[in-house]
Amino acid sequence: MITRRNFIKIATGITAAGLSGCSNFSIATAKKRVIVIGGGAGGATAAKYIRQVDPSIDVTLIEKNRYYYTCFMSSSVLSGERKIDSIKFSYDGLIKRGIKVVHHLAVGIDPITKTVTTQNGDIFYYDRLIVSPGIDFKWDTIEGYDKTIAKTIPHAWDSGYQTITLRKQLEAMKDGGTVIITVPHKPFRCHPAPFGRASEMAQYLKQHKPKSKILILDANEKFAQQKLFIQGWKKLYGYGTDNSLIEWYPFSDGGGEVVQVDAKERAIYVGPFEDQHQADVINVIPAQKAGKIAFTADLVDETGWCPVNQKTFESKRHKDIHVIGDACIASPMARSAYAANSQAKVCAVAVVKALQGEEMGTPSYLNACYSIVGKDYGISVAAVYRLEGDKIKWIRGAGGLSPMDASAEVRKREMYYAHSWFKNITYDMFR
Ligand SMILES: Cc1cc2nc3c(=O)[nH]c(=O)nc-3n(C[C@H](O)[C@H](O)[C@H](O)COP(=O)(O)OP(=O)(O)OC[C@H]3O[C@@H](n4cnc5c(N)ncnc54)[C@H](O)[C@@H]3O)c2cc1C
Repeated sequence: MITRRNFIKIATGITAAGLSGCSNFSIATAKKRVIVIGGGAGGATAAKYIRQVDPSIDVTLIEKNRYYYTCFMSSSVLSGERKIDSIKFSYDGLIKRGIKVVHHLAVGIDPITKTVTTQNGDIFYYDRLIVSPGIDFKWDTIEGYDKTIAKTIPHAWDSGYQTITLRKQLEAMKDGGTVIITVPHKPFRCHPAPFGRASEMAQYLKQHKPKSKILILDANEKFAQQKLFIQGWKKLYGYGTDNSLIEWYPFSDGGGEVVQVDAKERAIYVGPFEDQHQADVINVIPAQKAGKIAFTADLVDETGWCPVNQKTFESKRHKDIHVIGDACIASPMARSAYAANSQAKVCAVAVVKALQGEEMGTPSYLNACYSIVGKDYGISVAAVYRLEGDKIKWIRGAGGLSPMDASAEVRKREMYYAHSWFKNITYDMFR
C-alpha cells in the first residue's frame, strides 16, 4: 500500500535513492504486484491461485466486507436446512497463504498510473489488476425500490443479512400466506437460482405452513432446467393442481418485469399492464448489471457487462486489467460461482504468465450447478468449455443434465453431491 503522500512523491519523479526507506517503492520495482478487487467466488480464487502458481508475486485482495456470505446454498438457509454461519467465510485462509487482505471499498482505478484507490484514500499500485466485483442492481428500473426498501422487501441476491431477513419473514408468515418471487429479464446472476429458491422455500412451507403459496412472476418465457424443476414440483408440491404450493407465471401469462414497489402497502406492480400484487412476503429480484466499480473504471460496454479477451480475461477496454466472474462477458458460460472459480484459475495463469513474459497454454473451463428441489431431491447441470479461436465454446457431450424420471435414489444422491460440491468449492476459494 502507498499512502497518497508517498504516491505523489513517486509520481512526481523522486528517485529511488531519495526514497530509500520507502519499502513500497523498492517492492514496486523488485516484486510484481497483483491487486484483486472483490473477495467473492472469483476474486478469492484468483488471489489464492496466483500465490500458488508463483509465490514470489505480491498479492493484495481488496474486499469491502470482513466476511463473505455465499449466495450459493443460501436457499438452504431459507428452507431451514442450513444455518447462516454455514455459508459465512472469513479471509484467514488467504491471509495464511501470504495474501494481503484489505477491507475497504475500492472506489477508483487509474489504468494510466496503474493504481487502485480505496474509499479511505489509500492508493495501491499494480502490475496487473483483477476485478471480480459481482453484480449491481438496476435500481432505477423499479419505482419505489432502493437499498433502504430492500431491507424490508429483500432481494437477497447478494446474500448475508437479507437472506436472514427473508428467512425471518417466512417464519413469521401465517399458514395460508402468500410469497411472491419476481424474476428479472435475463441475463442475471445464476439463472436456475430463483427456481431453486422457490423450491427450498416450498420445502419449508410444506412442512410448517402447507396452506401457503409461492407465486413466481417471471419476466421471461422459460427458465433453466424447467422440465426437471417442474417434474420435481409435481412430485413434491402438487404443481399444476389447485393446491399447488408453487405457481409460475411466465411473461406472456401473468408474469413480467416489476415496475413499481409500494412498500407501505406491501404491493408490487408487474408487467406491461402494471398488475397489482400483494403478498405477505415479497422477494423482488431486480434486473442486474456488472458491479459498480466496473462502471466507475470504464470496464463495461453498452450491455452493462465487461467485455474481455476470453482466453486471458483481460479487459477489452483497458490493458493489464482483467475482469472475471459475474461482471464479465464469458457467454456461453453461466454467471455462477463455479464458473467464476474456473475463470479465476484461467485468469491466474494468464496473469502469472504475462508477468513472467511467457505465453500461456490453451485453457479449458468448467461449470456445474446443483439445485435442491426438496427434501432428498437434487438436480444438476454440468458443462465443459474450450477456447475455439478467441471464443469460449461449449463442448457437446462433455457435460450433462440430470435425467428426467430418475429414481429417488439418484435424486437423493444429487442432493448429497450438492452439499459436497459446496464444501469442496468453498475450500478451494477460501482455504
Ligand atoms: C440465490 C443464489 C443461489 C446461487 N446458487 C449458485 C449455485 O448453486 N452454484 C453456483 O455456482 N452459483 C450460484 N449462484 C451464483 C454465484 O453466487 C455468483 O455467480 C458468484 O458469487 C459470482 O462470483 P463473483 O466473484 O463474480 O461475485 P461475488 O461472489 O458476488 O463477489 C464479489 C465480491 O466483491 C466485493 N466487492 C464488490 N465491489 C467491491 C469494491 N468496489 N471494493 C471492494 N470489494 C468489492 C463484494 O463485497 C463481494 O464480496 C447463486 C446466486 C444466488 C443469488
